[in-house]
Amino acid sequence: MPLPRLYLSPPDIGSAEIELVLEAFQSNWIAPAGPNLDAFEQDFAQLVGSNHAVAVSSGTAALHLALRLAGVGPGDEVLCSSLTFVASAAPITYLGAKPVFIDSEERSWNMDPALACAVIEQKAKAGKVPKALVLVHLYGQSADIAPIKACCDKHGVKLIEDAAEALGATYGEVSPGSFGLAGIHSFNGNKIITTGGGGMLVTDDAELAKQARFLATQARDTAPHYEHSTIGYNYRLSNISASIGLGQLTRLSGKVSRRRGHFKAYAEAFKGLPGVTMQPEAPWGQSTRWLTCLTIDPALAGVTREQVRLALEAQNIEARPVWKPMHLQPVFASAEMHGGKVSERLFDQGLCLPSGAGMSEVDRDRVITAVKNCFARE
Ligand SMILES: *Cc1c(COP(=O)(O)O)cnc(C)c1O
Repeated sequence: MPLPRLYLSPPDIGSAEIELVLEAFQSNWIAPAGPNLDAFEQDFAQLVGSNHAVAVSSGTAALHLALRLAGVGPGDEVLCSSLTFVASAAPITYLGAKPVFIDSEERSWNMDPALACAVIEQKAKAGKVPKALVLVHLYGQSADIAPIKACCDKHGVKLIEDAAEALGATYGEVSPGSFGLAGIHSFNGNKIITTGGGGMLVTDDAELAKQARFLATQARDTAPHYEHSTIGYNYRLSNISASIGLGQLTRLSGKVSRRRGHFKAYAEAFKGLPGVTMQPEAPWGQSTRWLTCLTIDPALAGVTREQVRLALEAQNIEARPVWKPMHLQPVFASAEMHGGKVSERLFDQGLCLPSGAGMSEVDRDRVITAVKNCFARE
């Protein structure tokens, strides 16, 4: 009999969530709004240190709202990390704007600050300042925010942080997502906390939060009838989904420390495997280790990332390559790209291992053994 499938990052749900959902049912606060939605927003804002949090139906929706409220429109340019999930870039195109992709740096795998600043300077000199910059904190490791924020502030580029994988991380003592005009988080099923699908926009700007709520509920003007002076979206999170999130949030620190524990155990076990390098943790803060990622240099390892991935698959273990950079995606073939060598190598050699907060040590050992067996030849 094959062993049960081991997933990359399955949901980790507890009894608090069931209680809170039941409470929502019993009080008939199903949708659209309700007390658990308000509580989820308040607790979340407090936890990440932002003044306001607006719960929406996905992280992608949150980013769409943030970009629109940053004033991004047709023909504008928006700088974005190339090494990321497509949801970081797709909302730029929803607004008719053009993504300009920036390569990663080795220290964090995130947007290279020197390169990003050089591009902003060069565009400012040419009289075409980018409207906004989407800064991604990949796999829970925060980017080097300060130098990027300084360049953005100098030229009036609106900074928007994609912290979808970084809930519970730090930059200095502060949560990534709270530095720019707005930040976004995701509660998709595979993220650090889940609502079964959902997202959050965080900001210190009260007016921006108000406008985000307005646009997320079909842009209804104040009137007894339905009155509209702009086009909105149906993006609000339901009170049921928020109930799940509220329960999940109470156990955030445990979830992060279990993910970090997986990383540590993997790193310990793979010490000495030739050509294997774990994703570094940059000196400026703590990563969530949303997924444990490593690179395999085939020249030293004698085995490729893909061979290791397939060997894990044969053991019914889900592993995935690191995100394929946006500048290599067919849909962005004609987009502007700066640099590329770093993210291309990370994609070629990078592998993500099962990292769920609920994964047992026995299951983790299954992964470790399967990886080590790839190196045990000759
Ligand atoms: C998951 C994710 C998103 C989008 O979140 P959804 O809630 O799935 O829409 C955006 N950016 C990154 C980097 C992500 O990993």
